Amino acid sequence: MSACVVWFRKSLRLHDNPALTAACQEKGITSIIPLYVLDPAILGQDYEKFGPNRLNFLFESLCDLDSRLSSEYASKLIILKGDPERVFECLAQKLGGNFDSLYCEYGSEPYEREIFSTIEQTLRKNSPGTKIKMFGAFQTVLDLEETIASPAYLHPKSMKDMLKLFSSNLGTGEKGFFQVEDPLPHPAQLKPLPSCKVFSSSGPADPLRSYSSDELSGLLPTSLQSEIQSRNSYFPGGETEALARLHKKVSGQVDFVNSFRKPRTASTNEPDAPLEPSTTGLSPYLSTGCLSVRMLWKECEKCYLLGNHSEPPESLHGQLLFREMFYLLSRSVENWDQDSGNEMCKPIDWDEFQAEKMTAWEKGQTGFPLIDALMRQLDATGWMHHLGRHAVSCFLTRGQLWQNWTFGRDVFDKKLVDSDWALNNGNWLWLSGVAPFSMPSRKTKSKKARTSDRSAASWMPNASP
Ligand code: FAD
Repeated sequence: MSACVVWFRKSLRLHDNPALTAACQEKGITSIIPLYVLDPAILGQDYEKFGPNRLNFLFESLCDLDSRLSSEYASKLIILKGDPERVFECLAQKLGGNFDSLYCEYGSEPYEREIFSTIEQTLRKNSPGTKIKMFGAFQTVLDLEETIASPAYLHPKSMKDMLKLFSSNLGTGEKGFFQVEDPLPHPAQLKPLPSCKVFSSSGPADPLRSYSSDELSGLLPTSLQSEIQSRNSYFPGGETEALARLHKKVSGQVDFVNSFRKPRTASTNEPDAPLEPSTTGLSPYLSTGCLSVRMLWKECEKCYLLGNHSEPPESLHGQLLFREMFYLLSRSVENWDQDSGNEMCKPIDWDEFQAEKMTAWEKGQTGFPLIDALMRQLDATGWMHHLGRHAVSCFLTRGQLWQNWTFGRDVFDKKLVDSDWALNNGNWLWLSGVAPFSMPSRKTKSKKARTSDRSAASWMPNASP
């Protein structure tokens, strides 16, 4: 037997999956182990780092991946729980000389890079014959490492910078579009799981104890289980739903795509379907990698080929260019998620953390109807339109409460079903007015000017439960 472990990290899909495709094409490999690790450093020991909607979305995405692997390839997703370094150490012991290779996607977040390099060292020591391969440009259109390593790279701060970067890195084709590669199709076949027993069904202390997708909710504390059951999220997790939504909002909606102008979309969703976003609603699927961003890019391009269309920054390609910009910055700027030592963050004398204000904001009890409705929407559904996010982040920071943007960022990180480290930090930096890419007209005022504004208007005029 010669086994390849394909480690699914943030891209929970079969389409456009270069690691899985490479494993399928490798002649010497006789079995493929599709693996996901529930990592307490990401989720929390008791899953406390994710709110119920976000966690439910992740678990549904894992169940969907498992069921696609089983129905399309008679395989399954092996779900383990624990420190990934320990998991791979045990796998190396168990598989011995049969552990041919570990293939996985590149992850740009500091923790993702750190854990990968730790695992690499562990396997080099314990299983020197194992080939380790990480595939770039999985979560983004550009290969972040290659782009940043280019001598001409400068931190992009505007749409103009991004258009220049795309043009120099990808080139422009005949029709004037950037030459973005086509997404890979699903592999035609998948090699089977190893015939020998690798994983156990013993106690939770065994790092190779595997959980079926049906067992996932049983891992949660009872209170979290009942919170999840009491909610009815609008966005079902998983690749199946991602592809259906892609068709519903993009591939099958040429006019919608070609006339898409982000500032003209409504933060109140569709009038006849109040839970349906006026935008694509694809963000939860992009952030969990249930949908490949390259696939979305190319589907928009197909619509653009059919007629006149909007342009960046307002178009859908414009939105994806902002996404790429924040991914690049999050990788190239030191301390991207900090308010000090971060060259994209001007120092501001924010007020100390004030629990009363933070709680009122988070629970939607400020007395400002718009802010409260939006924050309750976030809590109930895990999603909010971009302009709603503008309103509540501005209110919390430079607009009214003068609280540090990182406090709001943390609430979003936990509750959003589309929570994404690069984008969440980038947008909070933008909206709190501290970044060089924040709009000039919105630059944060000095504390003196702000104090006189605030004395004229109480921050909580009519608090209601
Ligand atoms: P569409 O308008 O249909 O856009 C398509 C895709 O483009 C989105 O799915 C997203 O991947 C990307 N995109 C759109 N707007 C932005 C943007 N401003 N920055 C970067 N990428 C963008 N988005 C997240 O995905 N995760 C987050 O954690 C997140 N945190 C945010 C925090 C704040 C304070 C603000 C103001 C915005 C945040 N956004 C975040 C960006 C944006 O609000 C969402 O991406 C968008 O509302 C998702 O809806 P959609 O998929 O219908 O977007």
